Amino acid sequence: MELRAVRGMNDILPDEVEHWHRLETAFRRHAELHGYAEVRTPLLETTALFVRQIGETTDVVEKEMYSFERHGESLTVRPEGTASAARAYVEHQIAAKEPVSRWYYLGPMFRGERPAKGRYRQFYQAGCELYGDAGPLCDAEMIQLVAGFFQDIGISAFQVHVNSLGSGDTRARYREALLQYFTPMRDKLSEDSQRRLDKNPLRILDSKSQADKDAAVGAPSITSLLDEADREHFERLCHHLTVLGVPFVVDPTLVRGLDYYTRTLFEVRATESDLGAQNTLCGGGRYDGMIESLGGPKVPAIGFAMGLERILATMPRTAAPRGPGAYLLPLAAEGADKALLLARELRALGVTTEIDGRGGKLKTMLGRAERRGASICVILGDEVSRGVVSVKQLATRTQEELSLDGAARIIADRLRMSAATPASSAEPRGNR
Ligand code: AMP
Repeated sequence: MELRAVRGMNDILPDEVEHWHRLETAFRRHAELHGYAEVRTPLLETTALFVRQIGETTDVVEKEMYSFERHGESLTVRPEGTASAARAYVEHQIAAKEPVSRWYYLGPMFRGERPAKGRYRQFYQAGCELYGDAGPLCDAEMIQLVAGFFQDIGISAFQVHVNSLGSGDTRARYREALLQYFTPMRDKLSEDSQRRLDKNPLRILDSKSQADKDAAVGAPSITSLLDEADREHFERLCHHLTVLGVPFVVDPTLVRGLDYYTRTLFEVRATESDLGAQNTLCGGGRYDGMIESLGGPKVPAIGFAMGLERILATMPRTAAPRGPGAYLLPLAAEGADKALLLARELRALGVTTEIDGRGGKLKTMLGRAERRGASICVILGDEVSRGVVSVKQLATRTQEELSLDGAARIIADRLRMSAATPASSAEPRGNR
C-alpha cells in the first residue's frame, strides 16, 4: 500500500519554505513594531476549552475538530489560536502583572474541513491578541497593522470589511429577531440550519449552504439593534480607520464562524486572487467576555488570525532568495580535506556554502552548481597541490586563481560586492 500524506495536510518543501520564511519574518516585524511579543501554546488542549469558547453550534466544533480520548480525558488538536492564548493568559494570571498585554502567535491549526484550494485540514495561522484595552482606538490600530502588513508584502488588492455585533443584550435581541425572520421558512433551510434555528440562529447567516444563503437575503441587520454605547464605539472605529487612510466597507452581513465575538468584527478579503470562495485572508474581532468566562478577571480583548497559505497564494513571488553563495567542487583526493576546511572558514564569514561530494567530471559538477543557483564555484583540483584554488563567478563566467590561504575572505568580499549590484542580486533563480 502506498503511504501518502493525510488528505488536506501538505508537505512544505525547502523551495517553498523560503517564501514562508519571508512571510513569517515580515509578520513578526510588523507585530513587534506594534509592541506584540510571541506566545507559544501547546498544540493539544482539553476539548472543553474549544467547545465552550468557540461555541457548541459552530461548524468548527460540530464537525471539524480532531478530538480523541486519552487517559480518560478528551483532547483536541487546536483548530484556532485565540482560545488557547486566552486560557494561557488566565492560567498564568497575566492581568495581575500588566494592565495591557499584546501577544502574537504563528503555527499550524487543524480542522477536518473538506479540502479545496485555500482550505486545508492542517493550515498555518499568524495572529495577534490584545488584552486589557476596550478600544476602539486599538481596534483601528489592529486593522491598520494587518493592512500595513499586506501592503508591505505586496498585496494591495484587498478589501477590509467591518461590522459590530454589539454587546450586552444586543445579541439576545438579534437572536430573537432572526428567530422570527427564519421560523416561517424553516422548511427551506438546510438540515444543519433547522437545528441551529432554535439554538443559535446567528449561525445561519454564516452557513455555506446555498439554500441558507438564499433564505438569509432579507434577514434583519444587527446595526439597528445596537445600543448607544455600541453604536458610538463602532462609529469611532470607522472614524479612526478613515484618519489612518485604511479603506474599509461597513458590512452588516458579516458574522464570522466563531461564537465568541462582541462589538468589533472584521475581515480582510482578497479582491484579485484565484482563491474563489476562500478569499478571506484574515478574520478577527473583539471578544470582551472570554477572559471572564475562563475564570479570569473582566478584561476586554481583541484579536485576529490570518491564513498563511492563502496569503502565500496571493502575494507576488518576486525576488526569490538565491542559492548558496559558494559551491565547492573537490576534484582531487587532496581537494576533499581542503574543501571541508575552506567551507568551515566561509561559513564563519557568513557565506552559505555547500560542498559537492558526489564527484564526477568538472563539467558535470559545474552543471550541478548552475542548477543549484550558486553564485561562486570554487574548484579544488590539482591546483591545491600548488596551494591555490580556481574561483569561478557563475553570473559573469570569469575565473581566477586564489591562494588557498586568504581565499575565504576574498570570496566573501566578492559575494558582498555582487549582492550590492542590482543586475545580479535581483536575478530570479527560478525552480530548482
Ligand atoms: P478563523 O480562525 O476561522 O477566523 O479564520 C481566520 C483565517 O484563517 C481565515 O481568514 C483564513 O485565512 C484562515 N483559515 C481558516 N480556516 C482555514 C483552512 N481550513 N485552511 C486554510 N486557511 C484557513
